[in-house]
Order: sequence, then C-alpha cells, then structure tokens
Amino acid sequence: MSESDPQLAANPLVQMEGLPKFNLIEPDHVAPAVKHLLEQCERQISEIEQTLEPTWEGLLQPLEEMDLGWEYAWGPVCHLLSVKNTEALREAHKSVLSEIVAFGLRVSQSQAIYKGLRELRDGQGWTHLDGVQRRIVERQLRSAEHAGVGLEGEAKTRFNEIAEQLSKNSTDFSNHVLDATKAFTLDILDPQDADGWPESLKRVTSQSYNQGKAEDDPESTSERGPWRITLDLPCFIPFMQHSKRRDHREDVYRVFLTRASDGNLDNSDLITQTLSLRKERAGLLGFDTYAELSLDSKMAPDVDAVQGMFDELLAASRPYAVEDLDEVRKLAEDEGESAPLEHWDVAFWSERLREKRFDFTDDQLRPYFPLPRVTDGLFGLSQKLFGITIDIVEDEESVWHSDVRYFRVLNEKSDQIASFYLDPYSRPQDKRGGAWMGGCLSRRRVRGELRLPVVHLCCNGTPPVGDQPSLMSFREVETLFHEFGHGLQAMLTTVDYADASGTSGIEWDAVELASQFMENWCYHKPTLMGMAAHVETGDPLPEDLFKKIVAARTFRSGSNMVRQLEFGMTDMELHHHHDPDGSESAFDVRSRIAERTSVIPILPEDRFLCGFGHIFSGGYAAGYYSYKWSEVLSADAFSAFEEVGLDNDSEVERLGRKFRDTVLAIGGGQHPMDVFVEFRGRKPTTEALLRHSGLRG
Ligand code: ZN
Repeated sequence: MSESDPQLAANPLVQMEGLPKFNLIEPDHVAPAVKHLLEQCERQISEIEQTLEPTWEGLLQPLEEMDLGWEYAWGPVCHLLSVKNTEALREAHKSVLSEIVAFGLRVSQSQAIYKGLRELRDGQGWTHLDGVQRRIVERQLRSAEHAGVGLEGEAKTRFNEIAEQLSKNSTDFSNHVLDATKAFTLDILDPQDADGWPESLKRVTSQSYNQGKAEDDPESTSERGPWRITLDLPCFIPFMQHSKRRDHREDVYRVFLTRASDGNLDNSDLITQTLSLRKERAGLLGFDTYAELSLDSKMAPDVDAVQGMFDELLAASRPYAVEDLDEVRKLAEDEGESAPLEHWDVAFWSERLREKRFDFTDDQLRPYFPLPRVTDGLFGLSQKLFGITIDIVEDEESVWHSDVRYFRVLNEKSDQIASFYLDPYSRPQDKRGGAWMGGCLSRRRVRGELRLPVVHLCCNGTPPVGDQPSLMSFREVETLFHEFGHGLQAMLTTVDYADASGTSGIEWDAVELASQFMENWCYHKPTLMGMAAHVETGDPLPEDLFKKIVAARTFRSGSNMVRQLEFGMTDMELHHHHDPDGSESAFDVRSRIAERTSVIPILPEDRFLCGFGHIFSGGYAAGYYSYKWSEVLSADAFSAFEEVGLDNDSEVERLGRKFRDTVLAIGGGQHPMDVFVEFRGRKPTTEALLRHSGLRG
C-alpha cells in the first residue's frame, strides 16, 4: 500500500489483518481497492514469471501470498452481495468483475507458471516437499492441463474453439429451458378445481396470475382465484401433489416432460453436439471419454467404481421402489380411483399416503425447536465429539447486520483455533435464499505467522416474532447441522496452506462428507430430545412425534434412490459408452437405462433430457453420481459410531476425536480415499446408506 494515499489507507478492503470490517465497507470502496490490488498483482505476476525458481518458496508461496489480498478485498464484497445486497453494491461488483476474471485467466493460463510447476514436479526439489505441498502442485498442474495449457498448434486452436462452442451451447440450453418453462401456463378459474390445495400453492399461483394478467382482467385473490399454474418447480411439484383434477395433472405433466424439445427451443441437437464436443475435448487431452476426464479430478477412481456403486444401490433399492408403487396404487384403488396408475398420479397419491401415515406438520414441530436451544445442542454435541468449546463474542463490531452473531472456537487447551459468523434468519429484501457455509478467511501462514480460519454460516430461518425466539422447522434444524458440518471442516483444519486448508481442494464428490455426517445426529434420540423443549411450556418433544420424524426419513426412499440412480446412470452412460455420432440417440440411451430403473415405463415421447440442466448447462456432466457417492461416505462414516454404540459415551468420544483428526483436520491435504481409510480403517461400502434409507432387511 502506498502510504502517501490517505484515501486508500482508510479503505477497509485494503487492510489484511484481523477480521474484515463488514460494518465499514461501502460500495465506493470496491473499485479503488480492486484497482490497487490488480496493479500490485500484475507487477507481482510479471516478476514471478520472469524470475521464478521451480521451488515451493520461489513459486507457490508468492502465489499464495498474492491470494491473501483477494481474500480481504474481494471475499467480503461477494459475501455482502449475498447477505446485504444493494443496487449500488451490485453495480460496484459488476464494474470490476471482468477485470478480475481476466486476471484469473491470465494466471491460470500462464505458460511460465505451468513450466515452473512441471520443473518442480520433475526436478530435485520434489523430494523436499511434504505430502500436502505435492498435492497442491499436482492439483494445479492438473487443472492447468485440463484447461489446455499443455496443447500447442492446431490442437490448441481446436481446443479453444470447442471451449467457446461448449460455453455457448450451455447458455443456449438453459435459455431454451427457461423460455419453454415460461411459455406454458394453465389458468384454473373454477374454485372447485383448487379444492384441497394448500394455502401456499394458492398464494403462489394467484400471484403468478396477477403478474401475467392483462390490465382489464379482474384481480386474483388467493382464496377465490383465478390461479395460474406454471412449470416452475415451486408451483409444478405441489400442483402434481394436490390437484384432484386428473386431466389437469396429465396435461401439465406431459408438457413438463417435453419441455424444450420442439420448434426453435428444441434442445435435441444441442445435446448431440455437446456430447460430441465433450468427447473430442477429452480426446485432445488424452482421455478416451469425457467421463474419464471428469473423474480424473474426483475421488471416485474410475467409471467402473461408479458403476459398481450404481449396481449395488439399484439392486437393493429397486424392489422397495416396486413396493412403494404398489402401496400407492392400492391407496388409489381404495379411495375409488378406477383408472390405472400413471406417471401423473404418483405424486398425488404418494402425498395422500404421506398425510395418512405421518400426520404432522412443520408448524406442529416449530415450538419445540427455539433457535438458542438448537445451537446449544449443536455446540454441546461438537464439544462431546470433537473436544471444542464454542463461545459467543458479545461485542464484535465487524458484523454486517444486528442479527449476526460472532463465535470463537477453542480447543481442549482453551486456545482459540477458529471463529465463525452465524447469520441465522431470512431477510428477503437483501439476503439471498437457501443456506450455505462460506469461507471468510483461510487458515494459512503469512510470513511465518499462523492465521486462523474464519467462516460464514448463513441460513434463512424464520426470524423471531415479538419476544419469542426464532422457532425452527425440523428441516431448518437439519440444514443448520449440515452447514455446521461444512464449517467444522473449514475450522478444525490443521493444514497451513490456504490451497488445501479447510474445504479448499477437496474433490467435489467428497465435499459433502462432513456436512451430511452431522445431519445424521438429528435422528439420534438423545441429541434431538436434548435440544427440543416447547418454547412456552418447556415440555419435551412427544415420543410419537419423534417416531414420526424418524419414520418420515425413509418414506419412499426406495423410489427416491432409484430416481437419483436413473439420472446418474444416464449421465455416466452418455459420457462414457455412448457414441454421440453413432446410431443410438441420447434419447435411446435414456430409454435403455430407464428400462432397468423406472417402475412405470417411461412415455415414448419422454424428452426429460431436453430439460436436464444439471448435466447440459450446470457443472454436473459425468458428475451427477457425486450426490450418491458422498452419501455413501457420510453414512459409512456415521456407521462407525453406530458400531460402537451411539450411547457409549467414551467410545463415541474416542471416535469423535479420530474423525476430528482425520476427516476434519486433513480435509483437502490428502486424497479423500486415504483420509477416509485412515478414519474408517477400510474403504467405504454402501451398507450403511442402504440401512439408513430403510433398504436393508
Ligand atoms: Zn452441503
């Protein structure tokens, strides 16, 4: 920083010590801080490129030091965009974004840095690096190579052409799906046709009607309609579950299933072209198939291993899916439905079955889960398992909103090892929806001095009303445990390099291990009962409600599992065995897989793939299996605790410490299979996931 510039010196985004000053950051600070940092980094990168030595100290360390400035200057801007969004901040963010992206590309495509990394890997210095450092170097090399840095001449030109076309295809694909989704509406005018709908569906569809109606059409109210049905999931799903008009359900279902499959919104050719280009791209990088390229940077060793998981889970779950459907069919018949059960009936009758079996609602559970009790329970569990103490810091000033709380995490010797911000409630006016854990500061060494990790835990819980605390739904409790699991991995890391500390550098099919592991504890009776007490009476959660929560966890789990497997298997088949230029179309592949999975045969006109954005416009190509892969890991890790007995305190404590010292401490510092084996003593198996899902014996 140039001391002669007092304005810059007062800019909170330019400091690099302590906590970011979220309370002081203004949109006006963004552009000058980023400009200053970019100039500085440009100079540093040029210097590194010209003088670099292929050693850790000569190459990796300066790159990592450069990253610290971004963590302080850019990290808080992105965070505030999610939790305290304003027009001015959006503008400020947008004004510098393209320069930041360009700088990132410049570094990741630098030939000099790539050459330096290779010399380091192949030279004398390699033996001086520790295991974590080697993994960081190897990962950087791999991602540079996957981005085409190693290609030359014609191959490089073609690679870049493909990259550009694929990125265009991905945008076109999702635009087509969006436009096709928007193009359909069904207006329900007769209140009888809305009989049995939940309030929330009436509200959403009445709102849609008012937004889209012509000016002189009468205004809709949520009680009297009209109601506008759309293909947006928050409308489509409850409509299929609750509309008693079977013909309406059939119409809407058929349109949904053929979205983006004809006219100028047809995605069919894009699918073929995308698959073909991906295959070619993989070939240029030396892989036989796109699936092999995808798995090269993941935990799953190869396609066979993924296929093996699919086969095991499918064999175990499909009989249950058949049973699930029989139950639904029987209920429909008992209730007087004479037509055979079709695709558009399944959600409707399943919902009736669910209501019949588990007649509890979110609102019935909420009074038992006041937020302060739930966090006490969660922190108590963390103390028991991992030996950490969590203290609130009452007067922390750096927060961005008065609801936000700041906590310190102490180890068994009462030394602080990490800290976190908890932003628990929804603020629709300026905070985005959903729940997430985000890194604020990474654990790292800066000129020999250890910096401790800081994380953000953001949820969208119901805010407190009056003097009552926030009352959480069971789903919100589970979500808090999930995000806290991610947070634990970020905070209990013992790795000192930012590129591999916490959740950085964990293969993404393993990244949900710690989070889903924590969710399991919500079904552990003493843990759940320990944090449930009625907000007014202090009464414990009634036994029958606990039983229903546990039973609802596995409701239709065979059907749900088979559905996820169908998507994952189709994705893998399309990116591995399938020849996009051969005679079998992608739709034929979809049908062939569905013959093994779907209990009701899919419709001949099924064009599900034309709307499968996860793999054609999201990041899940040859990666959809990751959902199940990480569930296998988290269930198996939890089963280690079940084996010693969840109520056997001393054993649970011992295993908790082991989980802390392996999965949570090492994180991205070692290959996730090695970390898992170190904790579990063996490789993962599907047994625990099947048992937890109620799909075993
Ligand atoms: Zn997660």
